[in-house]
Amino acid sequence: MPIDTFTCFDAHVHVGRWQSPDFGGHGSDLASVAGVLSAAGFTGALVMPTDSGDNAGTLSSLQAFKGPLSFRFAPWINPRDASLPAFLEANAGHIAALKFHPSFCRLPLTAPEWRPFLQHAADRGLPCVVHCGRWQEVAGWSITLGVAASLPSVPFVLSHMGGDSPALVAGAATAIRERRLDNAHLGTESIREPWVVGRAIDAIGCDRVVFGSDHNLNHPRSFLAVIDALGLSGAERAAILGGNARRILAPRAGQTA
Ligand SMILES: [Zn+2]
Repeated sequence: MPIDTFTCFDAHVHVGRWQSPDFGGHGSDLASVAGVLSAAGFTGALVMPTDSGDNAGTLSSLQAFKGPLSFRFAPWINPRDASLPAFLEANAGHIAALKFHPSFCRLPLTAPEWRPFLQHAADRGLPCVVHCGRWQEVAGWSITLGVAASLPSVPFVLSHMGGDSPALVAGAATAIRERRLDNAHLGTESIREPWVVGRAIDAIGCDRVVFGSDHNLNHPRSFLAVIDALGLSGAERAAILGGNARRILAPRAGQTA
C-alpha cells in the first residue's frame, strides 16, 4: 500500500545531540531530521529535545524551519531545571505536549518533583509522552498508568508501548483494557516485532496506538515496516500513522499548530 502522505506523522522524534554515553555523542539537527522524515514519507512530527534538555534551542530551530513538514513541539521536562516553569509559561502557545523521561531523570512519575508539570499538563489539556522501559521501579508502565488513572483528562502516550519487551507491551495493553484507561495510548517506537504490536492492537484497538520512531536514534522506516507487516485496513493504518496523533495533539485554544 502506498504511504498516505497526508496522514504520516511521527509522534516521537528527537533533535539535537545526546549526552548519555550510551549514544556515543550521536546527534542531528532539525534540517537533517526533516530530510530523513521527508524521504520516509512523513509530513509531520512531534519534535522534542534530546537528554540535553535544550528546549529553547529546539523551539527556536522549529520556529526558524521553513517547511514543508509540519512540526509540533514537546519540551523535555527536567524537574531539576529551575528555568523550566518560566519557559513553559512564556512559550505556552507553542507547546503541543510534554515529554517525560523518568529513567534519565532517575525519578518515577509518581515522585513529587513531577507533580507541578503533570498539573501544568492537566491545566492546559496537554498530552504527556512518557518514556517506559525495563527499569520497573522508575520507568515501569504500571507507574505511568497509575498517574494516567489519576488524571483522566490528560492523554498519555506510553513510549516503547510500555517497555521494549513482548511481556511489558502485553502487560501494558492488557492493563489499559482491563482498567478502561481511555486516556492511555501506546507509542510504537523501538518495537521491532509485528506480532507484539498486533497483540496490543487486539487488546486496545488501533485508535490507541500511536506511531513513533524515536528518530534521531532509530530510523522511521524501520517501524513503518513493522506497521505495514500487520496487514491492517487503510483506516486502521491511517489511525496509527497519524490520525490518532493528530487527534491527541490537536491545537488547544491559544496554541499555534
Ligand atoms: Zn525517545
